[in-house]
Amino acid sequence: TVVTRFAPSPTGFLHIGGARTALFNWLYARGRGGKFLLRIEDTDRERSTPQATQAILDGMDWLGLDYDGDAISQFDRAHRHANVAQQMLDAGHAYKCFSTQDEIAAFRDSARENGKSTLFRSPWRDIDPADHPNAPFVIRLKAPQDGETVIHDDVQGEVRWQNDQLDDMVLLRSDGTPVYMLAVVVDDYDMGVTHVIRGDDHLSNAARQSLIYTAMGWPLPTYAHIPLIHGPDGKKLSKRHGALGVGEYQAMGYPAPGMRNYLARLGWSHGDDEFFTDAQAKEWFDTTGIGKSPARLDFKKLEHICGQHIAVMENAALLHEIDGYLAASGQAALTPKQKDGLSTAMYCLKERAKTIPELLEKAHFVLGKRPFVPDEKAAKSLDDVTRSLLAELTPHLQNASWTRDMLETAVTQVAEGHGMKMGKLAGPLRAALAGRAVTPSVFDMMLVIGRDETIARLTDAAA
Ligand code: GLU
Repeated sequence: TVVTRFAPSPTGFLHIGGARTALFNWLYARGRGGKFLLRIEDTDRERSTPQATQAILDGMDWLGLDYDGDAISQFDRAHRHANVAQQMLDAGHAYKCFSTQDEIAAFRDSARENGKSTLFRSPWRDIDPADHPNAPFVIRLKAPQDGETVIHDDVQGEVRWQNDQLDDMVLLRSDGTPVYMLAVVVDDYDMGVTHVIRGDDHLSNAARQSLIYTAMGWPLPTYAHIPLIHGPDGKKLSKRHGALGVGEYQAMGYPAPGMRNYLARLGWSHGDDEFFTDAQAKEWFDTTGIGKSPARLDFKKLEHICGQHIAVMENAALLHEIDGYLAASGQAALTPKQKDGLSTAMYCLKERAKTIPELLEKAHFVLGKRPFVPDEKAAKSLDDVTRSLLAELTPHLQNASWTRDMLETAVTQVAEGHGMKMGKLAGPLRAALAGRAVTPSVFDMMLVIGRDETIARLTDAAA
């Protein structure tokens, strides 16, 4: 079975690139009945924080990227990593290197002066352990020095490195702690990871990591190194750019299904399909559809796709999204009464709202309460004439049966009585019913709030 993983370092927010990497791995596994695992790469004790881990978990939770089993801490596995380094040492695939930092620096200086490669070649590589001093050492991989290392990558194709360009990397530091490169390989192997989908900034790591797999006699996972995401300006997105943490996207009011859809399309394509459901994405997603050049963030497209999702989302899902948006953007939560109002009105709010704040703006007529003081734009449609029309309409509404047709008839009658089109009354009605110029249709608003409330608001506005 397919096993993928997401392996973030908890040194900052879950940025948009990381979220996309997680999504690709999730889609790949979920579409194949496989497993999607989470590993927190917290070996860098200085820069890893519990807050960052929490932000990653929160971001994944919001995006609905559920993982199998518990999140694994890489740091907790340091003992196992050291153990593997020892195994490699025992098998002759690694060696103890006693060169000091000063010696290495001196080696590089002299290589530079003589115009030679500054790649460190340890003098300890072939020294008999019997001749080892009693001094601090690191464990280095005994890497092949000729030939080449080839990675078959599902996105990048065949990528080659000359082995004389790769040094004998350190596996275990002198204090016995594993380096990142070793930890990743051991963890991926132990977790049974079959497919590694990650940013192409890790491509050269794959070459080095493959040497560890080979030394241990372990099978390599299938690699897919995906191009990074670029900003709207075509420049690189910075990894720890706070404004690009997924929490910021939630606070901007993009709903999770829209984010998933947009992120899936960011660097991956399935024909011309732009809008799709999670089920379709799981079914369609494959590494063959991943492009080789960086994708650009396009907020217009993101909004467009989000609007399409909002239009088809269920009430419960939208309410959940609204709660999350309000919390993420530091706003007060909705009262149960407001939620009821929203639920009743949702059918006419969903259309044409591209973001949650846009939807909430249209919801003002159910979220606010009397008196609805018109904002500046709405106030323009209220003058003596329109006020008197609203006053004239009120008794008609008193007797009309409360259906769309009857409401339309009542409004049309009053308008035509003054030689106007029904549309002329829309502005004043919006101002009266919502205090806003942008609202759902006036008939939807009346149907949602009911007769008494409608009449009360029209009476307020006519006064
Ligand atoms: N921890 C690495 C990162 O945050 C990812 C390592 C991997 O996917 O192999 O970029």
